[in-house]
Amino acid sequence: MDKARDHCGIVGIFNHPEAARLSYFGLHALQHRGQESAGIVTATFDEAKGRPTMPHHKDFGLVLDVFADAGLFETTLLGDAAIGHTRYSTSGSATNPANIQPFVVHYQEGNLALAHNGNLSNARTLRDELVAKGTLFNSSSDSELILHLVAQSQEEGPTARIIDALHRCKGAFSLVILTDDALIAVRDPNGFRPLALGRIAREGGAAAYCVASETCAFDLIGATYVRDVEPGEILVIDRAGIERVERGGDFYGHCLPRPHGVSQCVFEFVYFARPDSMIFGAMVDKVRRKLGKAMAHDAPVPEVASGEKRPIVMAVPDSSNTAAIGYVSESNKMGRRCKLDIGLIRNHYVGRTFISPGQDARELKVKSKFNTVKGVLKDRVVVMVDDSIVRGTTARQLVRMVRDAGAKEVHFRVASPPVISPCFYGMDFPSHDELAANKFASIDELADWLGVDSLAYLSAEGMMRAVEEAHDEAEHYCNACFTANYPVPVELGVVKEENDW
Ligand code: SF4
Repeated sequence: MDKARDHCGIVGIFNHPEAARLSYFGLHALQHRGQESAGIVTATFDEAKGRPTMPHHKDFGLVLDVFADAGLFETTLLGDAAIGHTRYSTSGSATNPANIQPFVVHYQEGNLALAHNGNLSNARTLRDELVAKGTLFNSSSDSELILHLVAQSQEEGPTARIIDALHRCKGAFSLVILTDDALIAVRDPNGFRPLALGRIAREGGAAAYCVASETCAFDLIGATYVRDVEPGEILVIDRAGIERVERGGDFYGHCLPRPHGVSQCVFEFVYFARPDSMIFGAMVDKVRRKLGKAMAHDAPVPEVASGEKRPIVMAVPDSSNTAAIGYVSESNKMGRRCKLDIGLIRNHYVGRTFISPGQDARELKVKSKFNTVKGVLKDRVVVMVDDSIVRGTTARQLVRMVRDAGAKEVHFRVASPPVISPCFYGMDFPSHDELAANKFASIDELADWLGVDSLAYLSAEGMMRAVEEAHDEAEHYCNACFTANYPVPVELGVVKEENDW
């Protein structure tokens, strides 16, 4: 892994006869948030059994592969409510099918399904308490803890039990929960992970409602963005709620206390979310351009002698494309002349690669994903723009390829500060010592290792200013992986040991 990876994308649909199919398309749009497994659960009434049921289908693989059998939507995934999940798992659990979400259980109040994006920071304590009570676990995922807390709650009714259980959870949890009668959308009090509410108009009937990690899922299913699920909000979408909304009201909600304020994940803007999405109420594209512009001030394009050709600025595709556009436009405004060009082509169709013995696996992996455009790079001063450096191994390999393509000088610009600390709120990072910024005593040493003529990062202040300019107050964001200031105390070790209870 050479980039931070999110654990999941989640989607929920309520009051639509094609709920499962819409969830499927929603998961397609969220595929970048997790590629190792996918699943959909629906809520329906089984006439033959005379009771509500929750049929489901989930497996390892991409959404397209897991749901390759179109018949699933005709025969199995029936009902007008559904939730879906696409997951990236940590390596230890990658082969355990019990960890594939959504989880589905039957308990005292009926059926219950849950899909989770994030990490509970008090997972160890909760697990120990539940084990002491004799609770048996099926998976090694912290998400299962929430189901047990719901099942063991002393409150009455599914919603009251869910609210009670969520008061026990700390850390990062954007959730979609399906009961026999309702879709419940939840964001933790800090709002670490995004979750948006959308509406699908239906002719001659009440609208359908949907929730998704990013609004790019809404675009694919013809939903309009209504608002974000607020940090700490437990939003209940049921039939009575829809009637109320259609009459101009709002859904039933409950708010969890916010002891640590709001701290949404700034890394979603830096790298993770798609630029065509709106998250935390702001367009990712707009914030990412601002990051590129701020970088032009913190880390300008190198000056070239008059008469020399303008430096070429190129993004490391695809996540850096937007930042590179902002960087170039601001650099030119500042009088640092440069030209945006495409010097690296990314192959989007690479899955797993099989390496022959003797081949350099890492080199081949990078080369199978990227190639250089030699005519663009030859004899030019090149500025490579990347959104972040995590381990740095891919960056190093790409620099070598750009040099091999004939670049005269290679300068590297990073549209975020050095990543110095792991994330405990749902993003998967390498350990502290594996992070490139921690392996070298200075930026110059890291630059030498990368093989570049110069290396510069956007400052933490510049990053937060850019977020503020584009959108919202900097204090509403977590930037702990760049600053080591963790907004919610963490039971250290929990996240990485997720699979070794
Ligand atoms: S530590 Fe970094 S990746 Fe994790 S929530 Fe905070 S900003 Fe996001």
